[in-house]
Formats: sequence, C-alpha cells, structure tokens
Amino acid sequence: MQHQPQIEVSEVLSPAIKAAILRRVVVITAIAIVGSLGVTTLVSLVVQGYLFEGAVGWVAAVLAPGLIAPCVSYMQIKTSHLLTISNQRLRSLSETDALTNTYNRRRFVELAERELTLAQRHGYCTSIVIFDFDYFKQVNDRYGHLLGDKALVHVIDVIKTMVREADVLARFGGEEFILMLPHTSEPGAVSLVGRILKKVCASPLMLEKEDNVTVTLSAGVVTCETSQTPLDTMLSCADSLLYDSKQNGRNRLSAETLTCTWPRRESA
Ligand code: GH3
Ligand code: MG
Ligand code: MG
Repeated sequence: MQHQPQIEVSEVLSPAIKAAILRRVVVITAIAIVGSLGVTTLVSLVVQGYLFEGAVGWVAAVLAPGLIAPCVSYMQIKTSHLLTISNQRLRSLSETDALTNTYNRRRFVELAERELTLAQRHGYCTSIVIFDFDYFKQVNDRYGHLLGDKALVHVIDVIKTMVREADVLARFGGEEFILMLPHTSEPGAVSLVGRILKKVCASPLMLEKEDNVTVTLSAGVVTCETSQTPLDTMLSCADSLLYDSKQNGRNRLSAETLTCTWPRRESA
C-alpha cells in the first residue's frame, strides 16, 4: 500500500491562487446578492448609501466588488443630475412669485434691461404696461384675504391666456403687475390691454356660497420707440399713466409713446 502523505491544501496554494479563489467566492456571493435583490434594488441601495453619508452604499459595494465601478459611475451621474435639478429649482424659486407663478420684480428688471438693449440695437419698439387692481382693499375687507389671494391668481391666469410666449409678466409688488411686450407699438399694446381689461371685468371668480368676485384693473401703457430710453424712465412714465387711469375713474388705460432720445443712465 502506497503511503499518501497528508498535505494541508492551504499550504501548497500560492498567494495568487488563494486570491483567485477569494475573488471567485466574492463574485459568487455578489451574483447571489444580485440574484436575490435585483440589480436595480442593489444599485439604489448603493446610491442611497452614497447620498446619505455613504454607509449603506459602501457596505453594499464591499459585498459586491464587481459592482463598485458601475455603481460609482451611476452615483456620480445621479448626483450631478440631482444637483442640476436642485440648482434649476433654486433658480426658479429666486425668480418667481410663489402666489401667482409669474416672474418677480428682480427677474423682470433683468429681462427688461436685456430686451431694451436689443430693441435699441435692432431698432424695434417695446411696450411696458403696469396694472393695478382697483379698490382691492375692499375686496379683502369683504371676502377676506384668502379669497382676495384667489381673486388675484384668477385674474393673473386670465391675463396669462392672452399674452404671447415672448411677453414677460411679473408681479411688481402687492396687487401691482407689470407686462413687457417686445416688438409692440402703442396701438398694438393699447389694443391688447383694452382686451385684457374687458376680459378681466367679464370673468368673475366664481364662488359657491357668496356672490362672485368681480375685479377691475387700471393700466398705464408706455411705448419706447428706437430712442435710448432707460428702463427707469419707462417705469416712472407707466406709473404716472396708471395714476391718470385711477384719477379718471379706474377700469381704464392711459398710454404714451416716448420718442425723444434720453441720456443713458450711466451718462446722465
Ligand atoms: P386703488 O383702486 O386706488 O388701487 O385701491 P386699492 O384698494 O387697490 O388701494 P391700494 O393699491 O392702496 O391697496 C392695495 C391693497 O391690495 C392693499 C393690500 O392689502 C392688498 N394686497 C396687496 N397684495 C395682496 C395679496 O397678495 N393678496 C391680497 N389678498 N391682497 C393684497
Ligand atoms: Mg389697487
Ligand atoms: Mg396698489
């Protein structure tokens, strides 16, 4: 009988072979984990772990080393995508009036400055309209502030349906709104604003239990022709035209075209 020496398997295995066996064990474990959890669940665990301090993600990655590279790339793509979305959201919040979902005053000024520069360079006219709700204190006093808010949103929604994509509607403060109409002369602006005032007056906010809320608007419409009129000048002109509309009985518009060349603000 031949003598077979008893040799421990581990003693004859080189470190490289041991490592290869270990790798296989790890891969088989990874396949088992993926099989039981599914790739999507596993990747999502890793991503969540990465986003929430990394713990879960790195535990999962250690359990399934073959998935580390794809998981890390996925995490990077996902993270940069999430960052892009949150940046867009932040930007939109900083430019928008939350109640009416129109631009806020700061964003309006930026867009209007840019538009006026283009208008002056290319020689087309631009109109700006300031609207103010008539007797809005009385609306609040009679129906309460919450219904006042609803009436305000309702009117702005009516206006939104009547303007073009290129027009810029913004809340200027309180119940005062501003509309910039690029490529629009005084007759065009007057015609649009006239239709808006009529439509707002004819579109009351319907209430179930009380009378419907009818509101009217007054407006100041200013048009700048090819002159270098600064935005501030246009705004103060629109404001004084709005004041005229209020003085003359409300629910009406007053308009003017500025044709003379004004000095630019920096050289004034
Ligand atoms: P006028 O025709 O002269 O403009 O009369 P008015 O009552 O509208 O007068 P004024 O412009 O001075 O007052 C505006 C009122 O609008 C006062 C304020 O409480 C109300 N208001 C401003 N912003 C809001 C808002 O976001 N929601 C509500 N419900 N009311 C607002
Ligand atoms: Mg008012
Ligand atoms: Mg006001």
